[in-house]
Amino acid sequence: MASAFKILMYAIPIIAILAWYLKRHSRAEKTGLGSLRKATEEGLIEPPTLHPEIDHTLCIGCTNCVQACPEQDAHQVLGMIRKKAHLVGPTDCIGHGACKNVCPVNAITLVFGTARRGVDIPVVNPDFQTNVPGIFIAGELGGMGLIRNAIEQGRQAMVSIGGLVKKGHQNPLDVVIIGAGPAGFAATLGATEAKIRHVTVEQDELGGTVAHFPRRKLVMTQPANLPIFGAMKFKEVQKETLIDFWREVEQKTGIKISYSERVESIVPSPKGGFTVTTNKGVYDTRTVLLCIGRRGTPRKLGVPGEEMAKVVYRVIDPAQYLNQHVLVVGGGDSALEAATTIAAEAGTTVTISYRSDAFSRAKPKNRQLVETMASSGDLRVLLGSNVKSISEGLVEIAIGDKIESIRNDAVVVSAGGILPSAFLKTFGIHIETKWGTE
Ligand SMILES: Cc1cc2nc3c(=O)[nH]c(=O)nc-3n(C[C@H](O)[C@H](O)[C@H](O)COP(=O)(O)OP(=O)(O)OC[C@H]3O[C@@H](n4cnc5c(N)ncnc54)[C@H](O)[C@@H]3O)c2cc1C
Ligand code: SF4
Repeated sequence: MASAFKILMYAIPIIAILAWYLKRHSRAEKTGLGSLRKATEEGLIEPPTLHPEIDHTLCIGCTNCVQACPEQDAHQVLGMIRKKAHLVGPTDCIGHGACKNVCPVNAITLVFGTARRGVDIPVVNPDFQTNVPGIFIAGELGGMGLIRNAIEQGRQAMVSIGGLVKKGHQNPLDVVIIGAGPAGFAATLGATEAKIRHVTVEQDELGGTVAHFPRRKLVMTQPANLPIFGAMKFKEVQKETLIDFWREVEQKTGIKISYSERVESIVPSPKGGFTVTTNKGVYDTRTVLLCIGRRGTPRKLGVPGEEMAKVVYRVIDPAQYLNQHVLVVGGGDSALEAATTIAAEAGTTVTISYRSDAFSRAKPKNRQLVETMASSGDLRVLLGSNVKSISEGLVEIAIGDKIESIRNDAVVVSAGGILPSAFLKTFGIHIETKWGTE
């Protein structure tokens, strides 16, 4: 009797632990499969940047990688399917690489692109110089994503440029820094500290891709060293706090960044170095540091009035359009999402204009929502239409052979972007296309 009691004493906790373990695994399997199925249905299967490739002959199903992924709370990026780790949310992977570090059997390799879709990466030397002498690349454009890496590369690239420009040259500037995301911001601090004659131009605003993160996104990063200022200590921080911190650093250090200035061309200068032309001016410089990331430049409509302040290329906060007449231009997911979220705000009158006859590029979920809102009168859809001009209080839209004037307070253009690789090729940078390789 006593020995049966002893056996039960040991067996009950073991059975309980086993049951808990099996339940947890079966729940993880279900969510992993569900996420993968949803991503596949929505066509969200190509990771945009560096991502894990998992060797299932080595994976022992320990789930370490799933737990280590910093994005996991916001989106399921990695999941377990048949006791093996899988990338179940490919488009949500931003290349933290934390999964690789915790894998006990080295089953994870970090790669760019897939067998179906190549990713263009410019060829960059260890000193950040490209095949075109005098043109340097730092940050995510060179393939190394994440905020801390971009800061570190921006800082180091400026050390390399400092060494080169000491040798003397005729150009009025040592370097033009393009972009004020984390890489360009750190490079500008480095150039100011080392008294390198520079100009920094940014087509948008401080923070680069970080400024485009969804509202209140929790940013996972690592401490980094900012020239002049010193340590940036954050590990987990809300996007808005991080941007405010960078603004404070910008103010305290007195660095100069020219915002709303977009580089349009880079050509060799007769004095040696380069002539950089922007929408605001022309610069003659010994070197160029490209910190332009991988998001590209939003495509413009090229219509009169587009330069007005009411025209934007992304929506940060739909609530800012309360009680306004808004035109959204485009037919992809971002246009449809912008239109439906703004139309959900009180008192808005939203029109969506798209040049094709159907929203065939958008996800079914977004198309359906637009249809529902259009049939209930919450949204007006103008297919087969083209914006002709934008003016104070109005926009003119061509629909077939008719021109319609509609009331307007704001225009959101979501017409895609010009990818950085096309821009780089215009001045001879070598690009390598990676098809699922390191
Ligand atoms: C959804 C999402 C979530 C992420 N979360 C994290 C996270 O939690 N932690 C983390 O470490 N990383 C995260 N990342 C990655 C991180 O944002 C990027 O790796 C980092 O911002 C790269 O910095 P960068 O300076 O190289 O480029 P970017 O930040 O992309 O900045 C490039 C800048 O160049 C400007 N530019 C481009 N072309 C021109 C031109 N022709 N003329 C003038 N200016 C130009 C752009 O406007 C932009 O401001 C995330 C990325 C995404 C998409
Ligand atoms: S950490 Fe490695 S072994 Fe563990 S589940 Fe992930 S890939 Fe498999």
